[in-house]
Amino acid sequence: MTHQKTHEDTLSKIVSLCKRRGFVFQGSEIYGGLAGVYDYGPLGVELRHNIKEYFWKSFIADRDDVYGMSAAILMPARVWEASGHTELFTDPVVECEICHEKIREDQSDEHAFKHKSESGSAGYKFTKAKKFNLLVGARLGSSEKTATDVYLRGEITQGVHVNFKNIVDSMHPKLPFGIGQIGKAFRNEIAPREFLFRQREFEQMELQYYVFPEKKEGEKWFEYWKNFSFEWYTALGIKKENLRLREHAKDERAHYAKNAWDIEYNTPFAGWKEAFGIHHRGDWDLQRHGEYSGADLVYTDSETGNKITPWDIECSGGVDRAVLFVLLEAYTEDTLGGETRVFLKLKPELAPIRAAVFPLLRNKPELVAKAREVYTMLKKESANWRTGGVMWDDNGNIGKRYRRQDEIGTPHCITIDFETLENDSVTVRDRDTGKQGRVKISELTKILKNIC
Ligand SMILES: [Zn+2]
Repeated sequence: MTHQKTHEDTLSKIVSLCKRRGFVFQGSEIYGGLAGVYDYGPLGVELRHNIKEYFWKSFIADRDDVYGMSAAILMPARVWEASGHTELFTDPVVECEICHEKIREDQSDEHAFKHKSESGSAGYKFTKAKKFNLLVGARLGSSEKTATDVYLRGEITQGVHVNFKNIVDSMHPKLPFGIGQIGKAFRNEIAPREFLFRQREFEQMELQYYVFPEKKEGEKWFEYWKNFSFEWYTALGIKKENLRLREHAKDERAHYAKNAWDIEYNTPFAGWKEAFGIHHRGDWDLQRHGEYSGADLVYTDSETGNKITPWDIECSGGVDRAVLFVLLEAYTEDTLGGETRVFLKLKPELAPIRAAVFPLLRNKPELVAKAREVYTMLKKESANWRTGGVMWDDNGNIGKRYRRQDEIGTPHCITIDFETLENDSVTVRDRDTGKQGRVKISELTKILKNIC
């Protein structure tokens, strides 16, 4: 058996698998699709849930020093003035003087090349770059007079900072402490592209970790969260050689950043791309929100009584990007039994389906009844798992069912056959090797539980 990865076209193969097998669809597809917007299908939503669950557990639930929260998507314009987004959340845009398309400045060479290869003309011109704000706006209120401008949040971060006081007053945390959140954010991307990589509506998972505003403390916790985040990303089942930590150059840093590193993934379609960021935001956010809202966003040290504005070490990742990178990493083509097959080598903890149950033949009532019994038992058991479910499949022959489960990354297929009726053993097939073995029904829950 040979495992090989074909790097050319892996992305288009994944896009097509995602559609064919119910992971991800183009947003509002029957209406022609909405660019940069994607809908998650039955299996994709489970994979995404499993990644989020893993984030929530590692960064929030398992820790004593981090609280979870969920802020609203709609926030007043003033929030984004305070955060600097109104002024600085922009991309430089140029207009092509041939076709009048608006393009992000860094993509103008590519655009000129397109005209060149279409018409052979080397003549092209772009207007001077203009700043284009990426915030997505909306209006709330029933009459023009009372309506107010709001924005769909451009990042989930600000929802945490504006609740800093609420959390300090209600939970009385001691520094250092963190607030974590997962949720949707919106950006009016000029050129959404590369499937889930650059979308207009996307989900973020973040931790804002507040520390004493001292250089040493800031550095210590920055290092800590940088390493923690890298370990976490690797544990998604991504090979270390496909991940790297990269420090932002000074001119690349966001307006607030004292120090900034990215975890990058080596994509087959465009090389190293940002997967996760660790940013030292200093006291930028709390200072600004204090100033713009008039609220007192200081923390009183219970030991010294000193009033301080903590510094914030931020860990921030795109959920959809993680889904994409996990899929890119898992996508495998090999030959098994002389046939080419495609399978997703997903970590069992992330697989949408942990086990599939088949009766060998669907027209033998005694096999179907026994398989139903096993299926019902595992379905009940799956309530104790944090991730992954159990699926019933009696469609087509066994070979076809295996291929289907391989393609969606199901680690184990369990077949109920005639021997089951004699000695209560079933065939368990392993996704990665295609090997089959006989296991007692009473052992099944243990085997499936142990993978997590
Ligand atoms: Zn053009």
